[in-house]
Amino acid sequence: MVMGDLNWRLENTYSQLPETFYTRCQPTPVRDPKLVIFNHPLAHSLGLSDDSVDEARRFAALNPAFFTGNDLPAQSAPLAQAYAGHQFGGFTILGDGRAVLVGEQVTESGARFDIQFKGSGPTPYSRRGDGRAALGPMLREYLISEAMHALGIPTTRGLAVASTGEPVFRKTTERGAVLTRVAASHIRVGTYQYAAARQDKNALQALVDYVITRHYPDLAGADKPALALLNRVVQVQAELLVNWMRVGFIHGVMNTDNMSICGETIDYGPCAFMDHYDPATVFSSIDHQGRYAFGNQPGMAQWNLLRLAEALLQLLDDDEDIAIERAKEAVGTFAKHYDQDWFEMMRGKLGLVPLIQDDTQQDRALIDSLLAWMQANRADYTNTFRDLSLGTLTLSGLYSDKGFSHWRQQWQARLTQQYQQPQHSPQSSQALMQSLNPVYIPRNHLVEAALKAGATGEMGPFNALLTVLMQPYQEQPDCERYQQPDPSNVPHQTFCGT
Ligand code: AMP
Ligand code: MG
Repeated sequence: MVMGDLNWRLENTYSQLPETFYTRCQPTPVRDPKLVIFNHPLAHSLGLSDDSVDEARRFAALNPAFFTGNDLPAQSAPLAQAYAGHQFGGFTILGDGRAVLVGEQVTESGARFDIQFKGSGPTPYSRRGDGRAALGPMLREYLISEAMHALGIPTTRGLAVASTGEPVFRKTTERGAVLTRVAASHIRVGTYQYAAARQDKNALQALVDYVITRHYPDLAGADKPALALLNRVVQVQAELLVNWMRVGFIHGVMNTDNMSICGETIDYGPCAFMDHYDPATVFSSIDHQGRYAFGNQPGMAQWNLLRLAEALLQLLDDDEDIAIERAKEAVGTFAKHYDQDWFEMMRGKLGLVPLIQDDTQQDRALIDSLLAWMQANRADYTNTFRDLSLGTLTLSGLYSDKGFSHWRQQWQARLTQQYQQPQHSPQSSQALMQSLNPVYIPRNHLVEAALKAGATGEMGPFNALLTVLMQPYQEQPDCERYQQPDPSNVPHQTFCGT
């Protein structure tokens, strides 16, 4: 490998889809590309670099022009993807307005990843946008998506952020940047809606076949491929939502164009993590109705899946009534998958495993009453579960509350019952809890401080925060401040001005 070069092995299978799905489009070169951050472990796992070269030396040797689109890897064939979407309930034709797909990196083991530039200039889908992105929001996407990855949650990731040397005009003038985004693919619910809106059955079928080959090869040969695909997407989305709810993640813009068909978290805009437990929590300044509030997320995911089912309708059955029935049935299973998985996840957060006798109701009551107590007492979602995981909880501070000690007695009685079975012990419960309850989440005030410094070129706080977030389940020395919610208690608000 040449120093400074990366070992790209790009293919372009997406462009084999009907042309309606994309427009070939070059990134617009920028004035002064500078690499701000580069993801060495990700580069290594993509087969882009070996890790024998010292990270600092490799960073210095990397050519920033490759991370803004001023230069492109040899086999790239950039294109902007077309899609549609329900944005806060309203249907619009969209498309990559400020992104291009550079190509698909194929690793030695045959895994395929989209490489996309976000913020790389206008495309035919830009509408009135400038095609650009500001440094702060691109660093934000990099940081939060890496945090999600480390939490074990499927997500797109950031390979690099490079500044452009050009201003971007938002509420204020900001530094421009390009994020190199890596995804299993960027195909969305909205990609299907796009084909359906154009009443292009062939395109729709081609997209079903492509996604099955690329993401769900075990479904190849299914009797009704579109139905099999719908069922699978329902399942992976239910699993994703359970993960979000496990760590208190609020996506903020769960529009159908921001729901990935392969079950990855995608498009980090005004997302944030909940501090004190409240299902009504909303951080995004544009979500006036609380449509995408923490507790609404599973319902909104199901609503989005219904839009997917509608888009696929003509492929579900030749008879429209039967097709509608199939669609309803498939999407209806979301609630079943989600409820069951959520319950098992919450049990795990409390160190509980199913016992031989039926303890479902008892466990549900335990979970519900803890959540009700947390909400009434504004208890921090992350820290409460983590405190319970430590086994050294003292009934002081918030926990001196009578309601809490009563709940804890019941919980401990349930655990004692569990420990009577030889395969279960306080140690195994604790290990289970500690694997599901993070110590560190990206605390809103720390993220804001890191981005503020990053926007001026000072990456120290960003890198320090990123380092802590890379091992979210592991207590790290001298990192207490990373566990604390915002001491100022000012309600947090996130903005979509990305
Ligand atoms: P988002 O809310 O980030 O999911 O974006 C919704 C749509 O707006 C997508 O089609 C984006 O490509 C497009 N978009 C967002 N920001 C810009 C921008 N600055 N310039 C052009 N298009 C944009
Ligand atoms: Mg989007």
